[in-house]
Amino acid sequence: MYIGIAIVLEVASLVMVSSVFGVSNGSTYPFITMAELSDQEKKSLQEALLALQEELSAMLSHSKEAAAPVDLDAPIGRLSRMDALQEQNMALANRQAARSRMKQSEAAVARFADDEYGDCLDCGEPIDIRRLMAKPESAFCLPCQTRREKRR
Ligand SMILES: [Zn+2]
Repeated sequence: MYIGIAIVLEVASLVMVSSVFGVSNGSTYPFITMAELSDQEKKSLQEALLALQEELSAMLSHSKEAAAPVDLDAPIGRLSRMDALQEQNMALANRQAARSRMKQSEAAVARFADDEYGDCLDCGEPIDIRRLMAKPESAFCLPCQTRREKRR
């Protein structure tokens, strides 16, 4: 369920932006940076960010109930209690992921306002537009992100 929601969010933002850019598959066209985008294209990235935030906050408010603590004394039987606990755990993990993505997208919106959006926070190099289209909240270029994930 966690992966499902993440994919839905991913696809939704990708589809939205790619419809503006007229791109359907990100694998074949060359490296493009923010500097090469028109104002209109920049605007659509910014809109994708805001749309992502809306989706995330909707997801967070919908999942509140599912993440509520399970009443262990409720007379629902051992198996359904395990189901309930598992569901709660998944909801918590989902919400955690959504919250962290929300933070990233808020930071990205701030970078947009400062005209720093699209530059990697680690190396300062421009982030490939394909990456920004797929994940508009990206703060790091792919090599830096990969390095950070390996370090963990
Ligand atoms: Zn970098």
